[in-house]
Amino acid sequence: MRCPFCGNTDSQVKDSRPAEDHAAIRRRRSCPACGGRFTTYERVQLRDLTVIKKNGRREDFDRDKLARSIRIALQKRPIEPERVDQMISGIVRRLESLGETDIPSEAIGQIVMESLARIDTVAYVRFASVYKNFQEADDFEDFVAELRPPAAED
Ligand SMILES: [Zn+2]
Repeated sequence: MRCPFCGNTDSQVKDSRPAEDHAAIRRRRSCPACGGRFTTYERVQLRDLTVIKKNGRREDFDRDKLARSIRIALQKRPIEPERVDQMISGIVRRLESLGETDIPSEAIGQIVMESLARIDTVAYVRFASVYKNFQEADDFEDFVAELRPPAAED
């Protein structure tokens, strides 16, 4: 695994343990060249998914992008990070089990809303209010861009 700090192509695994209720393996790594430390996750990927955007463009499904938009919606909400990771894994499992490898971006937004509604009402409302505009937005990227972190309230 390439070091994100110095680009060295070698890194050493310092620690490996189960995470996300055994759905993932978390590895602490360190770079022998610069001493940088970072974490990687290993997860089962049942299928390679493709997102079909509203304008018909296709792009590889990106779990990190999905996770980013969900974390922004949940910002400052009293939800355990572990629970958020489990929810994200659950969403990805649902997408993988749809039986299709091509998934419309609207379908992803819908599943995210359903999942957020179960976990936190405020985050759901944040996400849903942006989702309305998303109907007009032409891709998931725009959607994520609109989900900016809320301004500090206190
Ligand atoms: Zn390095």
